[in-house]
Amino acid sequence: MSKLITMKFGGTSVGSPEAITNVVSIVKGEVDAGNRVIVVVSAMSGVTDALLASVKMAIADNKWGYLDTARKLRDRHDDTLNILIPPGKNRETTQAEIAALLDEYTEICQAVNILGEATPRIWDAVVSFGERLSCRMVAAVLRHHGLDARAYNAGDFLLTNNQYQQAVPLWAETQARIDEKLRPLLTQGVTPVITGFLGATRDGNITTLGRGGSDYSGAIFAACTDSDELVIWTDVDGVMTADPRLDKRARVLPYVSYQEVGELAFYGAKVLHPKTVQPILDKGMPIRVRNTFNPQHPGTLIRENGERTQTVIKAVTSIKNVSLLTVSGKGMIGVPGIAGRTFLASAQAGASILMISQSSSEQSFCFLVTDNTARNVREAIEAELAEELARRDIDRVDVEENVVIITAVGAGMRGTPGVAGRVFSVMGERGINVIAIAQGSSECSISFVVPQDDLERAVIALHDLALDGAA
Ligand code: ADP
Ligand code: ASP
Ligand code: MG
Repeated sequence: MSKLITMKFGGTSVGSPEAITNVVSIVKGEVDAGNRVIVVVSAMSGVTDALLASVKMAIADNKWGYLDTARKLRDRHDDTLNILIPPGKNRETTQAEIAALLDEYTEICQAVNILGEATPRIWDAVVSFGERLSCRMVAAVLRHHGLDARAYNAGDFLLTNNQYQQAVPLWAETQARIDEKLRPLLTQGVTPVITGFLGATRDGNITTLGRGGSDYSGAIFAACTDSDELVIWTDVDGVMTADPRLDKRARVLPYVSYQEVGELAFYGAKVLHPKTVQPILDKGMPIRVRNTFNPQHPGTLIRENGERTQTVIKAVTSIKNVSLLTVSGKGMIGVPGIAGRTFLASAQAGASILMISQSSSEQSFCFLVTDNTARNVREAIEAELAEELARRDIDRVDVEENVVIITAVGAGMRGTPGVAGRVFSVMGERGINVIAIAQGSSECSISFVVPQDDLERAVIALHDLALDGAA
């Protein structure tokens, strides 16, 4: 039976002519087999960073900087098209579209340059060009290989609120648009190639879903079209036991549950955006993570229930650039509401809390936020708890910057006593000082705060447990 498959290709997967050649054979392979494919693409690798840097250049009156970015982007996309498509209408029209997009980009940068500042809406508008360029390029190459591939801006279907840079989908409206505009294309045999990462407000302004958000885009399109599966094509063989850049021994996990992968992503595994599983959960749709550069490998299958492995700890992740805030004072004992007010003040200061831990004596509790919000959070808490601080019920609010969160994930932890203890002793044996510990409420993860300098050693220590089955 014919299947509908949503495939998301990441930055490296569309980052070179060789990679795009693989994309073509993957997509064409499915279409030739009678399946329908929705393609969601990221910007070519490095492009999003370059665009963000160019906004800074425009603000700083570095005209040469953003003009140079425009030129380089044009060369990179044009060269790729020249390699992959012979001269002719398809190539020339696409190159003209690319040139027009880059003219638009330059105009926006010029406006930023004149104003000397950029609003979040403008940042999103500028950064959107990465996906808008790659999407046209990939569609053109697919057309050259005989598919009826057409490029679409995600905003044609995916409506979001106006929280620029971190926009939230408006589900009902998105579903309606997808039913009305995207489904008919599929019945007509079109292979839509859609920009990942982007959406649009009701007024038509471009929004972005947050860095790495193309995975989430893939999940949104997969869920709203009731796809049979979502495939995240990336540059590694699947979800691995650790970040392969931190520990070369990392192995591919053949099966992971939605919940496990959710924890892994939330606690720093870059391979999937943390929101990716959300739209999929109710549908029970399988997600596969596969390697564009090694398409023979079956990759990782993510489903409702991951397979129980011999090891309780399946994988280890870490998050850098976080700060530990500690609120402490003897007068806190038994005083209700201090934690609640602290977290509310933190949220109002724009921080999301990554982890919380309380000492049993109730004399202090600590929590982690990203570095860039720590200072505002501390000020907000000090303002909120001003009276308690003045009365000395609370001694102080401390911020510790040079720390990281290390998380061990595995559904087998549920019902396996003593995992935290074993992990603790391994850290102790290797001389790593654990500053705080917290267990996820799902009981499928345990997180530790350790000094930044111990990051690699701590990952390796926990990874040893995952690899040799000692925990
Ligand atoms: P894409 O551009 O395809 O979205 P990303 O760079 O965002 O790719 O994510 C893939 C990268 O995630 C891999 O190259 C790998 O270095 C990193 N990574 C971190 N942790 C893990 C993990 N546990 N499993 C697999 N990859 C991981
Ligand atoms: N291009 C965007 C980024 O680099 C989105 C993505 O790749 O998922 O953040
Ligand atoms: Mg990514």
